[in-house]
Amino acid sequence: MYYKGYRYLLLLLLFAATSQAQESAEHKTLAIRNVNIIPMTTDNQIIEDATVVIEDEKIISINEPIPEGAEIIEGEGKWLIPGLIDMHVHTLTDGHFNTTYPTRAAAIFTSTQDIMLPFVANGVTTIFDLNSMAGHFGQRNEILRGDVIGPRMALAAMINGGEGSGRIANTPSDGRQSVRMAKAEGYEFIKVYSQLDAETYKAIVDEADKQGLKVVGHIPNVFRGRIEEAFVPHFGMVAHAEEFFKGTEGEAEQDPEHLAQLAKENGTWVCPTLTVIVSAADQGRSLDGLRSLSSLQYVHPLLQSKWLTSNNYNKNATPKSLARLERMIAFNNRLVKALKEAGVPIVAGTDAGTSGVVWGFSLHDELELLVGAGLTAEDALTSATRLPAMWLGIDSVVGTVEVGKYADLLLLEANPLDDIRNTRKISGVFFNGRWIDKERIDAMLSDLARRNSANKEKFEWKKRGEL
Ligand SMILES: [Zn+2]
Repeated sequence: MYYKGYRYLLLLLLFAATSQAQESAEHKTLAIRNVNIIPMTTDNQIIEDATVVIEDEKIISINEPIPEGAEIIEGEGKWLIPGLIDMHVHTLTDGHFNTTYPTRAAAIFTSTQDIMLPFVANGVTTIFDLNSMAGHFGQRNEILRGDVIGPRMALAAMINGGEGSGRIANTPSDGRQSVRMAKAEGYEFIKVYSQLDAETYKAIVDEADKQGLKVVGHIPNVFRGRIEEAFVPHFGMVAHAEEFFKGTEGEAEQDPEHLAQLAKENGTWVCPTLTVIVSAADQGRSLDGLRSLSSLQYVHPLLQSKWLTSNNYNKNATPKSLARLERMIAFNNRLVKALKEAGVPIVAGTDAGTSGVVWGFSLHDELELLVGAGLTAEDALTSATRLPAMWLGIDSVVGTVEVGKYADLLLLEANPLDDIRNTRKISGVFFNGRWIDKERIDAMLSDLARRNSANKEKFEWKKRGEL
């Protein structure tokens, strides 16, 4: 019952924003001709040589006559899939840089379009931000108004225990209060974090359900050695595979099948985020890989500098910590396999925004790693399209290629079911019905890279006290 209420609210938000955008944007009809559709519906029957008509922000017909005056996009030999969903990101906001009033250092500010461009370039049309702040609502509004091309944003308020800043709760009643405050601030989701005590954690999950908010997060450290207890009703999703690793570390045998069963019985989904641990191990060994990462040029210069000059994975690495990361990677792969066999829904996420994990680009890495861990290419695509849309409660409007859905789409040069790496061969993307072809994507990316590198010089000046 509460879940329905939440879902209604979310749909209301989507639709309210849509009618606004409709008023401001010109009416436009697009037709993709001769394209192969991979709809990612449950039966997923490929529709070959099809015509897809998009009007304003929605798919209005498949294999029907093209309306007069429609702009034609040639799809011959190409493949159309739903826009991708990254279920674990940390999106940058201006607040991230913590400027001190009244200091002015213009070089560190960034535009929402620049922040969202890597998602756009990679066809990531929906993101789930797992530590959201006021700035993210502002970004979401800019996108919904149509001022910025970017993904749909689902926002989670993070609640942690212990000491520190942010939403901290160390008693069940504080936990419940934090949930109610997050709801009043407009959040649709709650993220639980590592330092929560057992009773506060349980109260948060229970209160979130009462308030119609779904819960995602870490398995709090307190459950180490007694991980079963963390699987309380309405704990909706574990945000990393390694939460299971940490929760059972030191136990004689870490049993992925048993852990998968716990998730299965509790109805808890898993977002493995394989890529962040693989990247952490790589950065621990050496920063050469990160330094030569081609997507690094699209990262804000301040973060580039932080990742390269004050990289904790690298600074704190020891042979022991690196060996532990390797064990974690092996465990994560075994867990993904066990989850698949147990029928636990797996969704793709990356932890983008953490050191070395670049927004948008990293989702394609994750899809490849999921296949490497034992998913089929179709499973991997499902984990980044239909399934996450379901978990977020927006599967009636996005997540598949079907008439009536929002035109959040990727046009690919090659079939991703043959080879998952083909999701990188992007011919163009549709964001809420807006077509952005490869040429425009490349132009926008190189413009961003050029400005980032110019701003890098400004940082050097800033360090010398000239700004
Ligand atoms: Zn995260």
